[in-house]
Amino acid sequence: MNSGNPAPDGLPEDSAVHEGAAGARVDDLDQRLAAAVERMGHVTRTMLLRQAYAEGVSPLQHQLLLRVRALDGRARGSDLATELDVSQATASEALSALRRKELVEKVQDPADRRNVVYSLTASGEELSERLTQWDGPLTARLGEVPEADKATTLRVLLGLVADLHGEGVVSVARTCLTCVFFADGSAGTGLPYRCDLLQVDFDDAHLRVDCAEHQPRSAAS
Ligand code: SF4
Repeated sequence: MNSGNPAPDGLPEDSAVHEGAAGARVDDLDQRLAAAVERMGHVTRTMLLRQAYAEGVSPLQHQLLLRVRALDGRARGSDLATELDVSQATASEALSALRRKELVEKVQDPADRRNVVYSLTASGEELSERLTQWDGPLTARLGEVPEADKATTLRVLLGLVADLHGEGVVSVARTCLTCVFFADGSAGTGLPYRCDLLQVDFDDAHLRVDCAEHQPRSAAS
């Protein structure tokens, strides 16, 4: 509860700061950062939701269309459910609705003829192209942020995602920091990382968030 008294730093109290569990270390900067991330999550959810309803699809159908697009002919129903952290029944229902709208279709998996995968129809391609623009208002503002700040933010956020993925909080993370090919940069390049698959050294600004070539460490090692 905000008492109106100043916090120890002389600024007003912040309701994002709260007492930790018994015995837990409480760092108010960590709590304010967690609250800021939650606020950004709310912003992105709102942006997705508005665009989804404007295009006549549900937020889950919006996400499914983008995942089917990104997986480009490799989208199995069970994988889509895992990636979006929903039950298989929920994913199946949303995929059936997308099939009724003739936005996706079931096709034989070219990699395994016993399976079926989801693929976009011509109308689904058109709609998903528009849906990829959901982040326009955000990227327009990020364009004004210094490159070094953005690169550091990307590394910190992907580090948190990797940690939470390791703890099982996030099911799928196709990021460099969870990839079996991610390695230290080659000596003499001055670059901190290396992609062993493509044999390229790189820095924070080039970390991948959703890499088509990603191989999870646990599955490949
Ligand atoms: S394959 Fe992709 S995710 Fe993996 S290290 Fe290379 S660029 Fe990063």
